[in-house]
Amino acid sequence: MSERPRPLVIAANWKMHKTAEDVGPFFQAFDREAPAPAGGIEVAFFPPFPLLSVVVGAVAHRADASTGGQDCHWEDEGPWTGEVSAPMIAATGAERVLIGHSERRLHFGETDERCRRKLRAALAAGLSPMLCVGETLEERDAGRARSVVLSQLSKAIDDLARAEYRRLSIAYEPVWAIGTGRTASPEDAQEMHEAIRGALASLATPELAAEIAVLYGGSVKPGNAADLLARPDVDGALVGGASLAPADFASILRAAHERPG
Ligand code: PEP
Repeated sequence: MSERPRPLVIAANWKMHKTAEDVGPFFQAFDREAPAPAGGIEVAFFPPFPLLSVVVGAVAHRADASTGGQDCHWEDEGPWTGEVSAPMIAATGAERVLIGHSERRLHFGETDERCRRKLRAALAAGLSPMLCVGETLEERDAGRARSVVLSQLSKAIDDLARAEYRRLSIAYEPVWAIGTGRTASPEDAQEMHEAIRGALASLATPELAAEIAVLYGGSVKPGNAADLLARPDVDGALVGGASLAPADFASILRAAHERPG
């Protein structure tokens, strides 16, 4: 069996949960339950901004772990009260940042153009952006899921340099599956991931597209992770609710380690 050209990534999106005093107990429990690091499988934590440095320290001993911000501004600095820039995130020692999470698109007016600018700011700061794309239920019911997702994708990431595509990952998160307990079927996820990989091949090259991890997100839990991860183009999971409990998140990471092939 040839080696996968891209990593499997299991990522925790803590959203607006946890304070500094929760971090130590979380990682004590997670370290007890989680499989030991293995090549080709990465685990990423996206805590709220005030916890970035704490989590960077807490995962420093794990060779497979990285930390990231949940958003960044498109400018490096300036009169933007309440905002956090990509260089500020990088200065904490974090390596990643989420761009365009659907909760930001829905509640904070995040447009495709903003995602495009934020993604470039993240790359310029040396961060690895994880671009979130996904359709609403209305868009899916109207048969527009694929065109919506591919449009979000192409608007954010056309014309990147080769080395920049190599730092990119994508999270396909159907909006109707986030925090709702409803999950896309493994077949639906695979179909969209395949379409995303095809679009990446056109935007970049087929070789680069094969190196970009495309994660699935939307009510991933210990009970459904293995089925989703078994699909050939599902390269990991972005996990919200189930990432708050260390045993559940460790169990999802274990499903990645136990994925056949
Ligand atoms: C998310 O916030 O990215 C997410 C997928 O949440 P949940 O797992 O809770 O659906």
